[in-house]
Amino acid sequence: MKCPLCKGRMEKATAAIEEDSISFETYRCTSCGEELLNKDQLKALASKYRHLRKAKPIHFAKWGNSLAVRIPQKMVLELNLQEGTEALILREKEGLKIIVG
Ligand SMILES: [Zn+2]
Repeated sequence: MKCPLCKGRMEKATAAIEEDSISFETYRCTSCGEELLNKDQLKALASKYRHLRKAKPIHFAKWGNSLAVRIPQKMVLELNLQEGTEALILREKEGLKIIVG
């Protein structure tokens, strides 16, 4: 693939949208830095945004020396969570992931 602006060489690269904490694969011109996404890369990026749109805002509360997270009621009901329900918390590249059940 050649750059439509300068006819330079396009190479696969990883780009990021910092404000949304999203990284995605793109083609970047080795000469001028122009970035282009092919159809599959665009689909992958759209999929990440669809996933992010399902995210709910939360706040942390102080609980002793730790912090607690308040889970929205809709998720509590959907996942049948109760006080004492055990889950796993994982540190991931994008943040934290809580695995229930
Ligand atoms: Zn270029």
